[in-house]
Amino acid sequence: MDEPKVAVRVSSRATARISGELRDVVFDGCETGGFLYGLRGDDKIEIATGPGPNAQRTPTGVKFDGDYIRSLDAQLYAGWGDELSVVGRWHSHPDRTKELSQVDREGAIFGFLNLEKLHSDEDVAYLELVVTERSSWDDPDFHAYVVTRDPVSGRVTVEPAEFEEVD
Ligand SMILES: [Zn+2]
Repeated sequence: MDEPKVAVRVSSRATARISGELRDVVFDGCETGGFLYGLRGDDKIEIATGPGPNAQRTPTGVKFDGDYIRSLDAQLYAGWGDELSVVGRWHSHPDRTKELSQVDREGAIFGFLNLEKLHSDEDVAYLELVVTERSSWDDPDFHAYVVTRDPVSGRVTVEPAEFEEVD
């Protein structure tokens, strides 16, 4: 296996929010998730959202609540300013699979291409976080993946990254 090259830094505020959302998984065994936001020019994830009250959650997938995401998005930009950007997504795998599914991978690449269109003047990276339980959901395990474009070949790649929680 390749050594992870990039470290993904996530604020403790964001991991606390994710931990809060994981309570839903404890009750129903369905996936949950949300978006990740960071400030441009900084490699740290500041904010994690939930999936929204009308999200469609199943044991193998989660479709976020679009209305909730749109209104939350507007609130976040009002509070944090233009430097804030969606930088990725997170979701849980109740079956403890650490790897991205084909659908996860395609979604991550789709997110990357959108981000690249939005910030065409800079190199962008899109993050995909998979959360599994260790002994319980109170002790979550984070598996990070990063989508980037290779500057030489121009190919879009999805690679495992190191997860790091920071203040
Ligand atoms: Zn998945």
